[in-house]
Amino acid sequence: MITHSESETVAVGRDLAARLVAGDVVLLFGDLGAGKTAFVRGLAEGLGIDPDEVSSPTFTIIQEYSGGRLPLLHVDLYRLEPKEVDDLGLDELGDKAVVAIEWGERLPRPMPAVITVHLSHLAGDKREIAVSARHDM
Ligand code: ADP
Ligand code: MG
Repeated sequence: MITHSESETVAVGRDLAARLVAGDVVLLFGDLGAGKTAFVRGLAEGLGIDPDEVSSPTFTIIQEYSGGRLPLLHVDLYRLEPKEVDDLGLDELGDKAVVAIEWGERLPRPMPAVITVHLSHLAGDKREIAVSARHDM
């Protein structure tokens, strides 16, 4: 789908959140500024978490937000080496939470049953967003 503002992208994330269950992994793809973090803010809001808690976790690597229907783990792989990503143990992270991972292309190995979200920057504030069903990578 196409969004025309940050708040429209947040709304797409919010809609997806309504269909998520514990253990779901959402992998986000897209360049810097594509709207990955905005989308995660929507996931938080849809889970009943205060969306203002969601910031870019570039320096903390994993942030956990609670207070909603399910906890949300927010991971940003942007600055990590493949070895460091390995050490995070993402496979074992969250069977009781939803896990949202920015820069999914930096995963060193595929994960089962993921939902992928591809965001691309069109002109101006326009973004194209493609959300997959759960599938094995
Ligand atoms: P990323 O995490 O992919 O680097 P962010 O979500 O942090 O991206 O930032 C997206 C930036 O683009 C924000 O400054 C936001 O206001 C702006 N923006 C403009 N239009 C949109 C849109 N349609 N969807 C999402 N963000 C948008
Ligand atoms: Mg981001």
